Amino acid sequence: MPLSAQRTLVISPHLDDAVFSCGALLAASPGASVCTIFAGAPDTALATDWDAQCGFADAHQAMRERRVEDKAALHVLGARAVHLGFLDSQYTQGGTSATTAKIASAIRDVMREKDCATLLIPLGLFHSDHALVHTAAREACLSDATACIAYEDCLYRRMDGLVQQRLVELIGSGIEATPLLDPIDAATLSRCIEAKQRAVQCYASQLKAFGPHGYDDVLAPERFWTLRAVDHG
Ligand SMILES: [Zn+2]
Repeated sequence: MPLSAQRTLVISPHLDDAVFSCGALLAASPGASVCTIFAGAPDTALATDWDAQCGFADAHQAMRERRVEDKAALHVLGARAVHLGFLDSQYTQGGTSATTAKIASAIRDVMREKDCATLLIPLGLFHSDHALVHTAAREACLSDATACIAYEDCLYRRMDGLVQQRLVELIGSGIEATPLLDPIDAATLSRCIEAKQRAVQCYASQLKAFGPHGYDDVLAPERFWTLRAVDHG
């Protein structure tokens, strides 16, 4: 590419998605920022099954420790963390605490603050939180001149037909998606992959819940798509 690292902003639905899906690219772009949308803690100390599998007593402990994990992982990659206070769907009992418009507005604020030149967003596969963040982030991005790159959501991208469904939805919405090949310089690729491996290990609570082979996809090659609104002019 190369990315303008200092002005690259990666949007992450949860505290781990950006590093799982673009950790090597982040290692190649020191000074980038990672904004996690669902980094808030609920008012009551709920105890969800997922958090229990991660080894947490309740949601307050989970979010406190997961933010620490995220900062440690991003430190390994030379990136900065921005944590927004929206609630993960596991804390809203099937409802949603946030609308597309509210998330898009919050993303625009961070883009302005970081003087963002390149925005990386999830393709938004499978999980309702990922789909919501995808829609909001592309709304925030494609309405101005910022370059917009979508990353394939690690783990979910392996599920049958999901990447294809998103590509169909994109072109139906007037957005072209073109593969972005080899965004990391070949000379630095192995160093970046090694840094990503170390960063991934920082999310110890999540890795525990995924199990020994539950996150193998995280260390498979990262894949990106450049998004561009089709010019009808
Ligand atoms: Zn996620």
